[in-house]
Amino acid sequence: MSDALQQLKTRLDDIANINSAVGVLGWDQQVFMPEGGSETRAGQLSTLSRIAHEMFIDPEVGKLLATAATESNGADYDSNDASLIRVTRRDYDQSTRIPAALVAELNHHSTMAHPVWVKARADNNFKLFAPYLQKTVELSRRMAEHLGYTDRLYDALIDQFEPGMKTVEIEAMYDDLKQSTVPMIQKIKDRQDRANDDVLRRFYEEAKQSDFAVRVSRELGYDFNRGRQDRAVHPFCSGFSRDDVRITTRYDQHFLQAALFGTMHESGHAMYEQGVGADLPKRLATGTSLGVHESQSRLWENIVGRSRAFWTHYYPLIQQVFPDSLGDVDLDTFYRAINKSAPSFIRVEADEVTYNMHTLVRFELENEMLDGKLDVMDAPDAWNAKMQAYLGITPPTDTLGILQDVHWSGGLMGYFSTYTIGNILSAQLYAKAIADVPSIPADIGQGKFSSLLGWLNTNVHAHGRKYMPQELVKRATGEPLNSRAYVQYLNTKYGEIYGF
Ligand code: ZN
Repeated sequence: MSDALQQLKTRLDDIANINSAVGVLGWDQQVFMPEGGSETRAGQLSTLSRIAHEMFIDPEVGKLLATAATESNGADYDSNDASLIRVTRRDYDQSTRIPAALVAELNHHSTMAHPVWVKARADNNFKLFAPYLQKTVELSRRMAEHLGYTDRLYDALIDQFEPGMKTVEIEAMYDDLKQSTVPMIQKIKDRQDRANDDVLRRFYEEAKQSDFAVRVSRELGYDFNRGRQDRAVHPFCSGFSRDDVRITTRYDQHFLQAALFGTMHESGHAMYEQGVGADLPKRLATGTSLGVHESQSRLWENIVGRSRAFWTHYYPLIQQVFPDSLGDVDLDTFYRAINKSAPSFIRVEADEVTYNMHTLVRFELENEMLDGKLDVMDAPDAWNAKMQAYLGITPPTDTLGILQDVHWSGGLMGYFSTYTIGNILSAQLYAKAIADVPSIPADIGQGKFSSLLGWLNTNVHAHGRKYMPQELVKRATGEPLNSRAYVQYLNTKYGEIYGF
């Protein structure tokens, strides 16, 4: 190994160590830290993040990268060394293009905007938040100008979350989804008597929910020797290395779905992090993008966890845990309850049919505002019109409409479409997995998940960040990202439940 590459690796490992310490502090903040510790913790996090950032954008890293690239010229594209140099070059160019002053301005903006958004949402007062949303749009435009793009402003923003992904590709994905989903939502809306989730709102004792969810999570393949589960206000997954990946869950004793499916969702994220190749350099030893990450959580939560096969195995077991609440409910009623679909106002509560129309509303609005085609003051009306067009409902208030998400108050744009990339990719990957390993559906019906997890390990997880999302999808499935498998999945599943 060249001297430059060795020096580069040492430095990148140091930076990765600092960043994973930041991760541990962030996890502690949400799980154990007393409220009084907030200010001290904010200071610790900002100091460590700044040190890691400064170490990374140091011109010395640029020099080492250039020398290492020359010296390893001709190395196998798939090798860890060539991948490390390639990925780090991308990260480095991206990080050094954003001026420190703009980062500071963004941080300042989100600190100021967040409490205003909280108040605006509580008071249903969009006007209060409008100047801050305007500022988010302006800062996002400036960010895009610094990052660079050839076609669309949004290209630069999505690139931070889905490296290499283009706005036109996302538009094509949504066009297909819109065509098939809008009529499906209407059909389901007219057949609401075919599923209801009342049984999930009976009483489910928290401790029993926790035991059952952890049991399922363990059986799916989440390794608790290298992980743990705790309670937190917001469910999340946080990995500090492949050998320490933790998840959190929240409980509602009168809504069984929250903890059970939330745990499967976070376990999906965690198994991705636990599955990255043990030989990968630290910088590459994590998921490659938000969308690919979400494909893993959605696959386990929805395609596996909300399937009839899965509950054929688990339903008798969960009935034993909650005999008072589920003893008189048959499998079919339960299956329909956990898959009930209906248009609703709030994205995070949306089911798998309607969910993508929520992110589409945001994707279109972000693009229209960034491109100057939509004035921020007109955004609530535009939001409501799109909700009516795609979901057939109009939010009665902005609190239930444009003010519901935290993201824009954090100065973030370009993020929402990654959720939908995850959804459609979950089905695309699953379709290829069962084509390669036909026993997978039957295995799931017997509570065995190693055939599916093994396929995901080999084709997705093991690569870490070596490949960009589109590259990884092409390698794993033989096709570019597309919504065909997802649409087919929805049609088959919901056609059967709702009878169309
Ligand atoms: Zn997720």
